[in-house]
Amino acid sequence: MTWNTFPLILEWSSDITPTVRHFAFRRADREPFQYTAGQFVNLHWERDGKRTHRSYSVANPPGQSDLVELAMAPVEGGFATGKLQGLAPGDMVEASGPYGRFVLRDDPPCRYLLVATGTGVTPYRAMLPELKTLLAAGDYRVDLLLGVREPRELLYGEEFRAMAEAHENFSFHACYSRSDPEAASAWECRGYVQSRLTDLGVSAETDIAYLCGNPGMVDEAAEFLKAAGFGVKSVRREKYLSART
Ligand SMILES: Cc1cc2nc3c(=O)[nH]c(=O)nc-3n(C[C@H](O)[C@H](O)[C@H](O)COP(=O)(O)OP(=O)(O)OC[C@H]3O[C@@H](n4cnc5c(N)ncnc54)[C@H](O)[C@@H]3O)c2cc1C
Repeated sequence: MTWNTFPLILEWSSDITPTVRHFAFRRADREPFQYTAGQFVNLHWERDGKRTHRSYSVANPPGQSDLVELAMAPVEGGFATGKLQGLAPGDMVEASGPYGRFVLRDDPPCRYLLVATGTGVTPYRAMLPELKTLLAAGDYRVDLLLGVREPRELLYGEEFRAMAEAHENFSFHACYSRSDPEAASAWECRGYVQSRLTDLGVSAETDIAYLCGNPGMVDEAAEFLKAAGFGVKSVRREKYLSART
């Protein structure tokens, strides 16, 4: 397959939690990067004389010219995550895209259940301005559920908290699978996102679910929603499957 690639130049990167590194790239050709919030890019490398690529969701909202932000969770011995960790400001990487249909659609007023584990929350960060517009327009509600192991792994937690504070129809739920936070707030809970979903009293009539991240979580949550009467069109999924090459 021939990819229509373009060069990205790393502007800066930083560990935003002990398990996630955030990258800010710009298109080196200075062309605008046009995409819809929720889409992903492929990054391309040469490996043992063959081309290979890995996918990463775009973490920033559209409309920021040629900026492309990504959040990456390092994998031990991982090829691409190793390459990304080795990048310094000014280094280039080849990219293609945008790709994917994990985007907000023209849905009538509803409640969006935006469910993620780890870096799977990046599409929802990119959607925040679009969600603000929807919430301002009327009868929409959003429950955003983010599953991590412990509080210090809560990537972009401050941004989602600020969104919840500014919009009464937006709730943020942090779910910790391996820690019981001391003095937990109402928005924090112990357990998997799947169990928080159960607590929220889901309804196939009024809710549309987005599930992103760990494939096990996506499958389990989709099964639960199916059993609750959700049709395939109301459950939208993005599985962070690992590559075969
Ligand atoms: C549509 C899409 C969007 C994605 N978006 C993101 C994103 O925004 N951020 C992000 O960090 N990743 C994302 N991923 C996953 C990403 O594409 C890579 O698969 C991941 O970064 C690992 O690549 P690697 O080359 O370092 O590991 P590889 O060299 O491919 O794998 C090394 C070993 O680690 C295992 N492995 C791979 N991934 C994991 C994992 N997550 N946990 C435990 N073991 C693993 C593999 O099975 C293999 O044994 C996305 C995947 C898809 C399909």
